[in-house]
Amino acid sequence: MFRRFLVLSGLVLVLLTQTVVGATNSDVEELKSYVLERVEARMDQMIEASDALWNYAEIALLEYKSSKLLAGIAEQEGFKVERGVADLETAFVAVYGSGSPIIGILAEYDALPGLSQENVTFKKAIIEGGGGHGCGHNLFGAGSLGAALVLKDLILEGKLTGTVKLYGCPAEEDVGGKLYMAREGLFDDLDACLAWHPSYKTSVDVTGSQAIDDLYIEFFGKSSHAAFDPWQGRSALDALEMATFGINLLREHVKPSVRMHYVVLSGGNVPNVVPEYTKLWLWVRDSKREGVKSVLSRIENIVAGSAMATETTSHIENLGSYHEMLVNVTGSKVMQKNLEWIGPIKYSPEEVEFANKLQKETQVAEKGMVSGINKLQDPNTEPEGGSTDVAEVSWITPTLHISTTCAPFEIPWHSWAVVTSSKHSVGYKGMLLATKVLAITAVDIFKDPKILAEMKKEFHASLNGYVYTSGIPKDKKPPKRIK
Ligand SMILES: [Zn+2]
Repeated sequence: MFRRFLVLSGLVLVLLTQTVVGATNSDVEELKSYVLERVEARMDQMIEASDALWNYAEIALLEYKSSKLLAGIAEQEGFKVERGVADLETAFVAVYGSGSPIIGILAEYDALPGLSQENVTFKKAIIEGGGGHGCGHNLFGAGSLGAALVLKDLILEGKLTGTVKLYGCPAEEDVGGKLYMAREGLFDDLDACLAWHPSYKTSVDVTGSQAIDDLYIEFFGKSSHAAFDPWQGRSALDALEMATFGINLLREHVKPSVRMHYVVLSGGNVPNVVPEYTKLWLWVRDSKREGVKSVLSRIENIVAGSAMATETTSHIENLGSYHEMLVNVTGSKVMQKNLEWIGPIKYSPEEVEFANKLQKETQVAEKGMVSGINKLQDPNTEPEGGSTDVAEVSWITPTLHISTTCAPFEIPWHSWAVVTSSKHSVGYKGMLLATKVLAITAVDIFKDPKILAEMKKEFHASLNGYVYTSGIPKDKKPPKRIK
């Protein structure tokens, strides 16, 4: 069924191309049509890579086979590859071409723990507790690789001048690999950067993402027998309970855009021992980084107060601060135009049936696939809940982001159903569309210096003098995860 879609979409494209030629620079339009052909020609290679990543299903910092695969393909295709960058064993940067402009493309490939899933329309793990691509990063990685390879083809054929850099970014779901890559200055020489993400809708993303601070809060008390001599003990659990009570009271006095959520990592061992150690893992988000910072200073008071009242001591470790996404409207408009030029994905009846099955199974409305292209939103709209380390890059270079439909409408994200969709033609079609949009948007930036100049002008105006500072301390090493 998928092959039939390719042929049909090819026909549609020819028609579309004919109607838009003349509307803008015809050379660029012709080149864009050629790019779409090149993407289609690499489709089998992309699906193969995507399925391999899906099968590996490696979680954050353990993406050894996944990064080896993507970096290896880039190297075979003539890219100069540097592996293990920014002290991250599973990160890489692959470069092709020379001179400016230098356009970056981000690739992610980490899976989520506990989402192991067979390629079936009901929940069934391959390995109980194993990893699974519940965020579609297998598509993300392979699609971005495809876009970089096509741009390389064009540079090789003399149709473009400049440099393309593919960034292998590990651990998006946990740790935030790009935080470390950004701190290392790996994005500093870029003129612009492009990224995408699988979704159940199709839109150029201009409402950004939330800023977040990721914290461990520890309390240290004194143990004693909880019945025989409790007066000798000082409970770290009392302190933790007071702190969480304080955080929950604080909810009434923060802006509606603030989100705070936590889990207790350590709450003591056994009831007859007064706990001498407890640990809370807290995330604080807001639509702007300043918002997060102002809530944090209040949480520091709550933690200090809880320790004081319980005669314990406390320690707060900041694991990382993510910026909110800095949106580039100028570049996003170019991307939107390209997305509309290509047109929405079309689905076969079998694909709609597949979507409805997953929706029924996950108890959401059976609306099938929703591939209509959303209009560019007002960039001042509050971001949807969630944060991403792509935002770090957006404060270093103008960064454009698109989401494409890769899964049935409104199925729960980070779930087994997304894993299944990510190794299915509905996922492949979303990947194909994203690859095309990234590649032709890059062509616009390569070919028209005015576009890049305008993007940079907006970028510098938005920065308003701010120079990117990493949200992790200078000497903090990325964590290691043992297999
Ligand atoms: Zn994701």
